[in-house]
Amino acid sequence: MSYRVGSGTDFHRLEPGRDLWIGGVKIPHFMGAVGHSDADVLLHAICDALLGALCLGDIGIHFPDTDPALKNIDSKILLVKTYDLVKAKGYYVVNIDSTICLEKPKIMPHAGAMKKNISAILEIGENDISVKATTTEKMGFAGREEGLFAYATALLNKK
Ligand SMILES: [Zn+2]
Repeated sequence: MSYRVGSGTDFHRLEPGRDLWIGGVKIPHFMGAVGHSDADVLLHAICDALLGALCLGDIGIHFPDTDPALKNIDSKILLVKTYDLVKAKGYYVVNIDSTICLEKPKIMPHAGAMKKNISAILEIGENDISVKATTTEKMGFAGREEGLFAYATALLNKK
């Protein structure tokens, strides 16, 4: 047994007229997250958790926001590429836990679809993926709906 644990955090601003992608799901809302890619805060946090578990740096090193090839890229592709790095090191994913923090809209109705996306990419069961959501009780930037953030933890094991 050679277990490795990693944690990831990501933040994005919210602006009117942008698409809101979370966990590979386009969520109906009048605002969306701003970023070089599709700004999927959950998938980015999961990428960082996977990279962190193997001491491989962070998402910004592997997928720099100065790379024109990554402009508006679907973050599911970034997760696929990150998982390729995990597999190349001889590891597989045991489970993922995550929390999305934002004031609006309600996220939990979309959690099943998010788990389905993540499960398909990371080759683990939907029951091994936890997606939780919370508001910040109207406090801070998330409470003012200026942005959102997400945390993820990943456990890996050697094949
Ligand atoms: Zn991000």
